[in-house]
Amino acid sequence: MGPNRELIDKALALAPTDLLIGGEWGPAASGKRLPVVNPATEEVLAEVAAGGRAEGRAAIDAAAAVAKSWARTPPRQRADILRRAFELITARAEEFAALITLEMGKPLADALGEVRYGAEFFRWYAEEAARAFGRTAVSPEGGLDIITVRRPVGPCLLITPWNFPLAMATRKIGPALAAGCVCVLKPASLTPLSALAVGRVLVEAGAPAGVVAVVPAESSAALCGPILADPALRKLSFTGSTPVGQALLAEAAPGVLRTSMELGGCAPFIVFADADLDVAVAAAVAAKTRSNGEACNAANTFYVHESLAEAFAKRLAERFRALSVGDGLAPGVELGPLVSDRQRRDVADLVEAARADGAEVLTGGDAPAGAGFFYNPTVLGRVPPGAAILSAEIFGPVAPVTSFATADEALARANAVDVGLAGYVHTRDLKLIQRCVRELEVGMIAVNTGPISNAAAPFGGVKRSGLGREGGPEGLEEYLETIYVGLPT
Ligand code: NAD
Repeated sequence: MGPNRELIDKALALAPTDLLIGGEWGPAASGKRLPVVNPATEEVLAEVAAGGRAEGRAAIDAAAAVAKSWARTPPRQRADILRRAFELITARAEEFAALITLEMGKPLADALGEVRYGAEFFRWYAEEAARAFGRTAVSPEGGLDIITVRRPVGPCLLITPWNFPLAMATRKIGPALAAGCVCVLKPASLTPLSALAVGRVLVEAGAPAGVVAVVPAESSAALCGPILADPALRKLSFTGSTPVGQALLAEAAPGVLRTSMELGGCAPFIVFADADLDVAVAAAVAAKTRSNGEACNAANTFYVHESLAEAFAKRLAERFRALSVGDGLAPGVELGPLVSDRQRRDVADLVEAARADGAEVLTGGDAPAGAGFFYNPTVLGRVPPGAAILSAEIFGPVAPVTSFATADEALARANAVDVGLAGYVHTRDLKLIQRCVRELEVGMIAVNTGPISNAAAPFGGVKRSGLGREGGPEGLEEYLETIYVGLPT
């Protein structure tokens, strides 16, 4: 049975193909359009308007014009808009999921998980909108009341990647709007449709004109340059690769912008000698195949104690071999295509380099013939320390397994990278878990489980994986200033 045509039509109907600026949908002044390709079929799904410098300027001007009135809107009113947006997405969850699958490739069930996770940021921040509390204190020497009040940071530029085209948008827009900030969203050029559909939902939910702009671009730098240089802009929130994040931090420096940076990862998945192998293998499959392996918090490198390494790799290979690979909209498919041919080439190059480094290909290691950017699920055994694949962000369904002798060695090797987003630890030894929590240089730790993303949890990294946190009460802080009021008594 092939993909469901009716579902495809309904999904595509969710997404406008023009730019949302100042509450109006319209084309780019240049008339430029950007083709959006289905990575499972290589067919063009839609052509969306592609903004440039003029649209960047128009979007920040329209946002700045309503920044003060939006900041003054009662928190409950802002919350109601977010709550309605949550309900609108949830009511059409399957269509939103199909839209994600169509433009990005992850299987429908996985995409449905993204829709639920993504919509939850609107519900969570609808609940948090009324909780932007300040504090009071008395100065230690007396004579002065110290009072803090919270204010929205101001107009924000939000830049999102292609791997979670809906959830990365809602994870930023939710707290921004809850805090009273206006925003311009620049979605990834490969996957603008889900973000445009989120823009439409927010308009339908009652977001006033100008409060949210959604502007796909052909050249991100051309569109974002004038926005980043505009004195009205107060914050940049970026999710994407570390090199682009570094360049944007430099671009944000002259304006001394508040920045939130959710950057690349290279998550260690450590299986200690006493681990429950069934639990570890199941968690490995989940943490590696979610979003087709294209997740910043995907398990990247499997460090397995030498007493278990062969058994773990063999069982993981059996599970990977049994995965059903295909168009994510087809029933039963567990792994879809990679997002682009370039992404597939990058993954294939890493596997070839690992082979040359002496790794053993236990399953996969190649791409199936035919249309679509598919890459077969791959397990590499006996990967020698020092192989490049162990310290590269793979971003595909490839699991390199390497063995270690001691906890000291595992932690030292896991920490020997310049990024630190997520880490996975498998052991029944509480003291060892506590040691990992103290010593693993990552921002998030999953203990005896697979992915742990949750709208109520602070998502983010250390080292070159970024600055700040998204989700939970911490996510709201990113969009708030603290103003201190001194009142002599
Ligand atoms: P990318 O850095 O290539 O692009 C991210 C976004 O930045 C896109 O919208 C892109 O168009 C835009 N962009 C690129 N150059 C720009 C410029 N000069 N000015 C303004 N915008 C620019 O990343 P990607 O390939 O879309 O996404 C994959 C990366 O994202 C991976 O490294 C992954 O780890 C990371 N990621 C991180 C998180 C997190 O929360 N830490 C979540 C998802 C993805």
